[in-house]
Amino acid sequence: LRLAKKKKEKTIVKVGNVEIGKDFVIMAGPCSVESEEQTITIAKYVKEAGANILRGGAFKPRTSPYSFQGLGLKGLKILAKARELTGLPIITEVIDPRDVQWVSEFVDILQIGARNMQNFSLLKEVGKVNKPVMLKRGMHSTIVEWLSCAEYILNEGNPNVILCERGIRSFETYTRNTLDISAVSVVKTLSHLPVIVDPSHATGRPELIPPMSLASVASGADGIMVEVHHKPEEALSDGAQALLPEEFNTLVKQVRNLVNCM
Ligand code: PEP
Ligand code: MN
Repeated sequence: LRLAKKKKEKTIVKVGNVEIGKDFVIMAGPCSVESEEQTITIAKYVKEAGANILRGGAFKPRTSPYSFQGLGLKGLKILAKARELTGLPIITEVIDPRDVQWVSEFVDILQIGARNMQNFSLLKEVGKVNKPVMLKRGMHSTIVEWLSCAEYILNEGNPNVILCERGIRSFETYTRNTLDISAVSVVKTLSHLPVIVDPSHATGRPELIPPMSLASVASGADGIMVEVHHKPEEALSDGAQALLPEEFNTLVKQVRNLVNCM
C-alpha cells in the first residue's frame, strides 16, 4: 500500500455542503430507483429526517439476470429531479466502464459495488473522472485487497475515494452477510480515507440496522448508508431489509446523539 497510507492528513471529500471524513454523513434512499413517485417520496422523507445524501440504484448488479436490472438513464433523470427538489446530493452505482464518463455527469458520487470491487478496468475508469467514488468492500475480499483497489482509483489521479464496509460472507446465514466492524477501525489506521458502513446489506435485517449503525459510530466510521422504502413489500429489490421512513427518522436521532457524545 503506497498511496492509501502516504498522505499524512486525512482525506476529506466535499460533496455539496457536507465534508465526508469530518462531518458524520448519513446516506439514505431506496435500493433501486423504481419510479419518479417512489424515489421522490423517499427522497423527501429522508431529507426531512436529516439525511445528507440520497442513494438510489439505476444500474443494479443483480444475482439473477431475471431480476429487475434498474431503469438506467431514466433512473438517473429521476435522481437528478430528486436532487433538485430536496437539495440532497446523489450517489449511484456504476457497473460498466463504458458508462462511467456520462453517468458521472449526472451524479455527485459514483459507487462501485461489492461485486465489482476488483473490476480493475472499472476502477481505472472511475479514477479518471472528476467526481468522488465510494468503493464498497467485496463480500469475499480481505482488507488489504480492498485497500489495493482504492489504490487503483487513487493512482489514476482521483484523490476523492471513500471506503464502504458492507459485510463479508461467512458461515453464518442468519444475517445476509457478516458486518466486519473491526475492519472500520483497521482501515482508519491503515489509510487516510473516510469509511462508511452499510448496515443494510451487511445484515439484510431491518431490526439489526439501528444497533449496527451505533456500533459503526463507536468504531470510528465517518458515516452510514441505509436503505429506506415507504412500501417495502412492493420494492423491486431488497424490500426485506428496508427501513420505513419513521424507523429511519428514529435512527437518525439515535445516531446523531451518539455522534455528539464521541
Ligand atoms: C447497493 O448498495 O445498491 C448494493 C448493490 O450493495 P452491494 O454492492 O454492497 O451489494
Ligand atoms: Mn440493495
